Amino acid sequence: MHDTRVLVITGAGVSAESGIPTFRGKDGYWRNLDPAKLATPEAFARDPKLVWEWYRERRQRIRNAQPNAAHGAIAKLAQHADEFLLITQNVDDLHARAGLPMEKMVQIHGDIFVTGCCRCDFSYPGRGGSPEPPGAGALQPESGRLRSIAPTSEKDVDLPRCPECDVLMRPGVVWFGEQLPLDELQRVEEYLDGGTCDPVIVAGTTATFGYIIDWALRGRRVGGELVEVNPEETPFSQFATRLVREPAAIALPRLVETLVGRHSPG
Ligand SMILES: [Zn+2]
Repeated sequence: MHDTRVLVITGAGVSAESGIPTFRGKDGYWRNLDPAKLATPEAFARDPKLVWEWYRERRQRIRNAQPNAAHGAIAKLAQHADEFLLITQNVDDLHARAGLPMEKMVQIHGDIFVTGCCRCDFSYPGRGGSPEPPGAGALQPESGRLRSIAPTSEKDVDLPRCPECDVLMRPGVVWFGEQLPLDELQRVEEYLDGGTCDPVIVAGTTATFGYIIDWALRGRRVGGELVEVNPEETPFSQFATRLVREPAAIALPRLVETLVGRHSPG
């Protein structure tokens, strides 16, 4: 693939094929609770223990999951493209574990394995695709910096607290109603400013968020391909130059083979 600049955008549909439930539909419910209502600053303020329990289970589920063929295909495409960026709405580490380097990926909704302070900038890093040290429990921060901290109430006894300012720590994800992380937005803007892309591939996302559609449209080279991979119609479908109505784990390996083959020298 020569002079290729590629943009890929993924959403929950890609992780769903690895067994990570989406927020939508009955499968996404947890203890009869709607995740869309748990993933909010209000829910955390009301009941941090409940919200942490949910994230704890989600982290464990992700640890037990494996990247699927879609993750593998995207990592392969990245290897063959001259320039490549993945924007993923997924907070899991499955793209990284499939071999996609962190510098070629923006997790625009955060990283579930990061544990960050609610007040200051202190955070424990995510897994970054590497195995965790033994004994790193779901709630235990993963660097050794934790001091002995007395919880302020019995109820918060299991909750991580910031070693710098002693307030509660939270999962490093973007909750409903929150701003997208500025440094990650900056990386998206830089990539989009650096030139247009062909192809732009949008896979496994219902494209509910307007910025996802905006980035895909801005990224596209005139005359370039705008591919949607999704079993169902979405608000993005009307803009796509090619619709692939299949699950990402089936469609992407084939699509990537075609792209990599087409651009091979000789
Ligand atoms: Zn702090």
